[in-house]
Amino acid sequence: MMATTATAPIAFIDLAAQRERLGDRIDSAIKRVLDHGAFIMGPEVAELESALADYCGVKHSVTCASGTDALLMVLLARGIGPGDAVIVPSFTFAATAEVVALLGATPVFVDVEFDTANLAVNKLDAALQAARAAGVTPRAVIAVDLFGQPADYEEIEAFCAEHELFLVADAAQSFGASWRDRRVGSIGDVACTSFFPAKPLGCYGDGGAIFTDDDELATVLRSLRVHGQGSNKYDNVRVGINGRLDTIQAAVLLEKLAIFDDELRSRERVAARYRDGLKGVVDVLALRPDRTSAWAQFTITCDARDEVAATLQAAGVPTAIYYPVPLHWQPAYAGFPLASDGLPASEELAGHVLSLPMHPYLLEDVQDRVIQALAGALR
Ligand SMILES: *Cc1c(COP(=O)(O)O)cnc(C)c1O
Repeated sequence: MMATTATAPIAFIDLAAQRERLGDRIDSAIKRVLDHGAFIMGPEVAELESALADYCGVKHSVTCASGTDALLMVLLARGIGPGDAVIVPSFTFAATAEVVALLGATPVFVDVEFDTANLAVNKLDAALQAARAAGVTPRAVIAVDLFGQPADYEEIEAFCAEHELFLVADAAQSFGASWRDRRVGSIGDVACTSFFPAKPLGCYGDGGAIFTDDDELATVLRSLRVHGQGSNKYDNVRVGINGRLDTIQAAVLLEKLAIFDDELRSRERVAARYRDGLKGVVDVLALRPDRTSAWAQFTITCDARDEVAATLQAAGVPTAIYYPVPLHWQPAYAGFPLASDGLPASEELAGHVLSLPMHPYLLEDVQDRVIQALAGALR
């Protein structure tokens, strides 16, 4: 339920408000699946894949069980493994680097830009050198569109072309955003997204998708998600995974996709209002003029961040810290190469970022409470 009174707690992400709008349609969609009973690879999966491919303007969309599986399947399809390096930002969700390490390849951590928190293109050369110094062969770059804003693809594409690196867009947070005249999904050699419930387009469980114009890659991905199957289920032509999206989740996503553009416009309105209301109050992450964001998060940076968060919490305003520790400082990833001595922007951001309540159903008076509470906390 939407909080409208001056003291009611505010939702960080309000899935109940969306459910109020779409509930009946989603319930009917789920019931149709319960009735036809094709829970695995039922007709809704193919229907969703064609709707998603159209939405992004790409030839192929391959749905899968999660955003993590999307990344994993792409690296598997490229044959990435021991001896290979994949350049990834350190300031991201663990899955971006996890899939690289899981395959026995080496994630090479590169810094991000302080003002957008996206990949720092001018540090990519140092990442190549770090890979070579570690004795591994650079094969790919995974660019993350953090908080919903596409990375700097002009420079990243040029760099990847020059060095024959495969470009994967980790668009888990940016589905629906655009860069120039291209929709996320059509950027990079391949793009991966997530339908985790809290992402801009979320289902009611785990889910993900991969987008590409490459016919051969799409065929391999479709095989990989069903145990590397060939011409039939018991023909295994490669080592794969069980990576399918459930039919019920596809049915939910079809209903949510139908209102997604409207929700994106609402997110943009909320973000624009935050930017106006917070001018002179606190620094917000930058949005580059040649792109739009899907506004998975609205993120500010401030000193004494933890005290500010506690003051907001006391005023009934929830916040979240994405991400409190850069990956190169995590115990699981501490041994991997860094593009330079320390990654100062990643380290600095981890200590200063704070994400505010953000969803398409955030009412203006509730948003004003957030802005006022923040102004009070920073006084
Ligand atoms: C959420 C997320 C993922 C993983 O998606 P799951 O569906 O949760 O597996 C990968 N990368 C980034 C940047 C994410 O935010």
